[in-house]
Amino acid sequence: MRLVLIGAGHSHLEVLRVFGLLRPAGVDITLVDSQRRATYSGMLPGLIAGHYETNQIQIDLDRMCGFAGARFLNTALLEIDPEQRAVTCADGSRAGYDLLSINVGAMPVFPAVNAPANLVIPAKPIAELLPAWERLITSVQCGVVKNILFVGGGPAGIELLTAMQYRMDRLTTPGALSFTLVTDAEVLLPRHNARVQSVFRRMLAQRSVRLLFNRRIAQIQPGAAITTQGEHIPGDVFVWATGATVAPTLHAPGLARDPAGFIAVNEHLQSLSHADIYAAGDCASIRGKSYPRSGVYAVRQGPRLADNLRRALVGEPLVAYRPQKRALALISSGSRHAVAAYGPIALSGAWVWKWKDFIDRRFMSKYNVLR
Ligand SMILES: Cc1cc2nc3c(=O)[nH]c(=O)nc-3n(C[C@H](O)[C@H](O)[C@H](O)COP(=O)(O)OP(=O)(O)OC[C@H]3O[C@@H](n4cnc5c(N)ncnc54)[C@H](O)[C@@H]3O)c2cc1C
Repeated sequence: MRLVLIGAGHSHLEVLRVFGLLRPAGVDITLVDSQRRATYSGMLPGLIAGHYETNQIQIDLDRMCGFAGARFLNTALLEIDPEQRAVTCADGSRAGYDLLSINVGAMPVFPAVNAPANLVIPAKPIAELLPAWERLITSVQCGVVKNILFVGGGPAGIELLTAMQYRMDRLTTPGALSFTLVTDAEVLLPRHNARVQSVFRRMLAQRSVRLLFNRRIAQIQPGAAITTQGEHIPGDVFVWATGATVAPTLHAPGLARDPAGFIAVNEHLQSLSHADIYAAGDCASIRGKSYPRSGVYAVRQGPRLADNLRRALVGEPLVAYRPQKRALALISSGSRHAVAAYGPIALSGAWVWKWKDFIDRRFMSKYNVLR
């Protein structure tokens, strides 16, 4: 039997770990990922802020595949052909499958109007964010960039803003740069409770971040973002951390999608249209369930996905995944300080950052023991 895993997202890391520990006999596993290393987004703001080194937040996929006894195709997936049961990759390689699983994450939603690529830094893919961040440091140090505008008032936008501001304050003259955050919502962090929202609103105001609510960016041009209302908001560089969509490059003719384009799966994480295709993490949408697209859920889906793939391979009945009703969010704020949000509860302080750091390091050590 041939199992092909597309993308080394959080769920597939767990599949590789589990299959490395106990693999059903006679199964050939192939992983396809465009990157050699999987970057853990939970620690990404800490890397940007300067609290971590790159190797602390990345997992080596060659080693991970070695542990799992999997073949690693280090290339981007171009197309899935569900009829022929084969995938085609950017380097021309093709792989046939009996069972396919997709965990390729999601991308920020861009405005309809094309923006000059060199002016926009998308929060995802992380592999592109990191070099763009290095280039941004140089541009700021050369004085080319003086005003950074963030689009998106969710956790990713806020964590990136606070991390970048913290680091820039240490690399340049504090206050030399100005920061703006634009959101189309009425509040920051609309999925979180009012106390968390006001903690960050106060914090960003104290740090002289210009906050603009109820504005949707329609166009980017050198020097400004233009809203749907025609307002020009100054910015030299635009960090894009809005909503999420499946990468438009994921071609899979006939594969069931939800209205937003995510891969539609049932409670077994199995495609609604093809019983031999599974999907998990940000790229998947579970029929009848509503939950945020976050790493927490992608991680939780990992063990269920691994078990269901094993069951499918040996012909056992599948088991349903039930998303938890609430998840703990630990949102960092630049320095070694973070805010915890759980239902109506909000807690903040240096100790919350230490707690987050502990959880994040524990996640990494689960996969680093394989090195
Ligand atoms: C700055 C930032 C901070 C965040 N912090 C948190 C946090 O603290 N907690 C939290 O829960 N969530 C956080 N998130 C959200 C989190 O990153 C995502 O929800 C999570 O990464 C989704 O995981 P995933 O398993 O779906 O896929 P991902 O982790 O996105 O992995 C996708 C993988 O697929 C590969 N891939 C993609 N396309 C292709 C292709 N065509 N061919 C081959 N390979 C491909 C990629 O290289 C990557 O390895 C944060 C996001 C950002 C941007």
